[in-house]
Amino acid sequence: MHYLEVANLTKSFNQTPVFNNISFDISQGEFITLLGPSGCGKSTLLRSLAGLITPDRGQIRVSGEDITWLKPQQRGIGMVFQSYALFPNLTVADNIAFGLKMQRLDTNDIKRRVAEAVELVGLEGRESYYPASLSGGQRQRVALARALVVRPRILLLDEPLSALDAPIRKHLREQIRTIQQQLNLTTVFVTHDQEEALTLSDRVFVMNQGQIVQADTAEAVYTRPANDFVAGFMGNYNLLTPEQARQLLGLEISGRLAVRPESIYIREPGRDYGPAMTAPVTATVASHQLLGNVIRYRIRVADCLLTVDRLNRGADALLPAGSPLELIFNSTELKEVA
Ligand code: ADP
Repeated sequence: MHYLEVANLTKSFNQTPVFNNISFDISQGEFITLLGPSGCGKSTLLRSLAGLITPDRGQIRVSGEDITWLKPQQRGIGMVFQSYALFPNLTVADNIAFGLKMQRLDTNDIKRRVAEAVELVGLEGRESYYPASLSGGQRQRVALARALVVRPRILLLDEPLSALDAPIRKHLREQIRTIQQQLNLTTVFVTHDQEEALTLSDRVFVMNQGQIVQADTAEAVYTRPANDFVAGFMGNYNLLTPEQARQLLGLEISGRLAVRPESIYIREPGRDYGPAMTAPVTATVASHQLLGNVIRYRIRVADCLLTVDRLNRGADALLPAGSPLELIFNSTELKEVA
């Protein structure tokens, strides 16, 4: 059975629709990421689930119960925001205890549950600190503990990592995933960062202009994009027009051909690439960009500029602008999209 069910949810601001009749189901314990460009409606959707925004129409059900019109505090939903939103004048422990005090729990129960939550997010020893003396990552862990301590049925995370530095962001996202799996907590996570979405989620909902354009596993969204928007948004796909596909590959298509940068190879003489490869086409390096272990080339073929990724094997292997070369394509990894 589906745990969270959203049916025909509709929301406009001043007659401008953000989303129209959006529907989806999430199973218990699933980690879903809403991924899409800024302004596509991710936060509005998440806030509607939390009860911070009232939808115009539609239904939100959790475990069969209609919660569409309930107040936020009646929904059993925890939320973490990008801006930690901690009380600056309360200690870590008191920030975490806040929701339990509102529920008028027994003092001993509050102590026990705060200690559990502190341990869950790894903040032992920091209980009496004030937010101002914590790092960004620690503050976000307080916010996470505060959301978890009330034992929510669903956890909502609105870009919780975007204000943090890269190494902390990576560490915290792994911690969030571990805790979520440990608690089997149904979670909806909002991000515009495709790497975050692909590494964290059971399923990714790719959104564009208020619509979920693809809801699928990370693997499927990345390798089998549903349309040219998803292809353009994920993985730096090259999108070839029918004319370019005919010119470069002799393929007759009616939509666009989506080709990932790692599905195009710069041919090295004498190397066997196997039977899946297309016939070589001559090309020239236009520019390159170093992305750590990968070199991302822009390569000109006829009137077409392609993005091609190649493992970085050191400065000797770098091809400067103007270098002539031959490209071959892995024909099993070409995908026609609408
Ligand atoms: P995202 O989270 O994907 O960046 P949002 O849900 O924040 O997108 O915004 C979706 C659209 O709704 C945007 O065009 C935004 O300007 C508009 N919007 C969001 N909140 C409000 C509001 N309170 N009043 C008016 N328009 C809003």
